[in-house]
Amino acid sequence: MQTTRVLILAAAFPLFAAAQPAKHTGTPHRMTAKEIHNSAIIVDTHADTTQRLLDENFDMANPPAGDYGHVDFAKAAAGNLGAEFFSIWVEPEKFKGHYARRTLDLIDSVYEQAARNPSRMMIAYSVADIRRARAGPHKRLAALMGIEGGHSIENDIHLLRDYYRLGVRYMTLTWSNTNEWGDSSGDIDNPNVAHHDGLTEFGKDVVREMNRLGMMVDISHVADKTFFDAISVTQAPVIASHSSARALTNHPRNMTDEMLRAVTKNGGVVMVNFFSAFVDENFRKAWDAQAPERNRAVEEAVNAWKQQHPGGEPPYNIDEKVQHEWGMKIPRPPLSSLIDHIDHIAKVAGMDHVGLGSDFDGVSYLTPEGIDSAADLPKISQALAARGYSANDIHKILGGNLLRVLSQVEATAHRLQARQVRDGHAEAGTSPASVRRHAAGGQ
Ligand SMILES: [Zn+2]
Repeated sequence: MQTTRVLILAAAFPLFAAAQPAKHTGTPHRMTAKEIHNSAIIVDTHADTTQRLLDENFDMANPPAGDYGHVDFAKAAAGNLGAEFFSIWVEPEKFKGHYARRTLDLIDSVYEQAARNPSRMMIAYSVADIRRARAGPHKRLAALMGIEGGHSIENDIHLLRDYYRLGVRYMTLTWSNTNEWGDSSGDIDNPNVAHHDGLTEFGKDVVREMNRLGMMVDISHVADKTFFDAISVTQAPVIASHSSARALTNHPRNMTDEMLRAVTKNGGVVMVNFFSAFVDENFRKAWDAQAPERNRAVEEAVNAWKQQHPGGEPPYNIDEKVQHEWGMKIPRPPLSSLIDHIDHIAKVAGMDHVGLGSDFDGVSYLTPEGIDSAADLPKISQALAARGYSANDIHKILGGNLLRVLSQVEATAHRLQARQVRDGHAEAGTSPASVRRHAAGGQ
């Protein structure tokens, strides 16, 4: 088709023009990138802001002047962030013996934040709730919760169910630590850790019970074998709440192309992590190379603090500050590195299987250039539009895909629960008493 004819058609049929992503000019014909961004329901599946809420008594409505954080109400509004999954992360060494208590304290801090700011934040339990929070003139931030690390359930399926009832809508099967029923990518090469070759039978029951409850199965952080075990057991689509692509940045926290294709088959979604060491190969290499020195510096900082405060407990974020200082010595990657990961996952897994899982407030503030907080999310839409993504595709990436997966997880739960009623308790997705509480010290 000749150029002149395209121009005539475009002039005569503006809708035709609007439907065409402008592959080469860099801007869609009708909706600007800003309009695309502002008309989306934007869902971020991972922010560690929760620890600030609990340990700093951080008020998202009144951040201290010059606050370094990634997420508060003003920043969320500036970036049109619609729904945030607050991470419920329990440090496994520090809270040994008290995982459930710390989990409950973190959950409480999210509720208290909403109670303090009811006009700006709404606890959401479902896709319908997210839409409700964003409807009307006030556009409240929909607050959801995801548990980051299966150790929070203390090997007890009853606790898993209690967390669901408290509003937890995903659980990352493991954090960086292998727990008693699932292997983690974080210590899979450590011979001193007892591994299970993926998920144990109890671990598989946890996945089945999550399906029945309507809690999304999150495979970020898990070892590769755990991923494939989870995907073979689950009856609902899975998510990777904050993982990027290993083909571009060779980190075990990222997903291989084979895993991406398995997620396509499963119908799930991979939410791209913004951490510079996960999205930029040069940054990752430099970050890994300085690890021994950096870890020593963290240790020294903790020891120095303890000497100055005998008997005291060092602040939870002391290591984050040191990590940040060291990370700042490495050149910050360009925003295009992050966009490359979205692009790669959209190509390999498909446009319906990619989203955003920033890891805000959890990545030592080491994000690509231009992304300093949730207020910078519009830059992602701008960059995607410049690469020729249509408004529809951008909406899927910004949140549509996650909403679709969450609805499917809700529908699967309804189906399994209906079957349980029909077939009686014995046939339910859960199994005998022996698996309800996994014996400590076993597999
Ligand atoms: Zn994480």
